[in-house]
Amino acid sequence: MGKRKTSKKVTSYVSDVNQEFDSKNSIQENKQISLPLNKSKATKFRIFSILFWIIAIGFEVLAILELRKESLSINWIIAFIVLDLLFVVIGSILWKKANRFDPASEKQKIKFFLQNQLGLIVSIIAFLPLVILVFKNDKLSKKQKGIVGTIAIIALLIAGITGVDFDPPSKEKHLEETEKVKSLTNGRDYVYWTKSGTSYHLFEECSYINTSRTDEIFEGTVAQSKAIKNITDLCDRCEANANRK
Ligand SMILES: [Zn+2]
Repeated sequence: MGKRKTSKKVTSYVSDVNQEFDSKNSIQENKQISLPLNKSKATKFRIFSILFWIIAIGFEVLAILELRKESLSINWIIAFIVLDLLFVVIGSILWKKANRFDPASEKQKIKFFLQNQLGLIVSIIAFLPLVILVFKNDKLSKKQKGIVGTIAIIALLIAGITGVDFDPPSKEKHLEETEKVKSLTNGRDYVYWTKSGTSYHLFEECSYINTSRTDEIFEGTVAQSKAIKNITDLCDRCEANANRK
């Protein structure tokens, strides 16, 4: 690479592995856009995510077992609900991260929905049975049911909202954006982004990423910008500049 056109520190994710992969998979092989590097990262995130979810459901089971006890402790049940919530939420964050490294294809509608909204489904499994059992329990007083039930429902709502992916990543969207970037930059899949921005840029010297607010610029492929920073769109100024060239 030649001399940098920006005075900012540039952290590059464009490794040799990716370049080698890019040259092997030219445009005719449109299906394969996620890099092998990203796939293995996604797998790691998915394994941890599932582990966290299993532990979360374990805490739900503990809460249910406590409910069945003759002399049950409300404090323990509440503690198990809080731990259940914590682990479900961490699992969902990791799961959504994994999907950005290795997005599902929109062509398989059911798989696309299940993969992107799995956090919501797990949240329902991790709290709904417990909520029902709290209200069906005959050892709890009305007041106790009110307290524990409300906490469990709030936990279900928090977990559910965190579990939903409101802007699910898709293989096709990633591919489309990559092709657009390539068409604007003579076939190079290089983009730039910053810690705080939501756009990726075609030029490292773009004025939006060279303000005093930024001290570091990241460089990588479109897929990487989405996986690492959840970037959503292309910078207007860079697009206009590229079209002018
Ligand atoms: Zn720009």
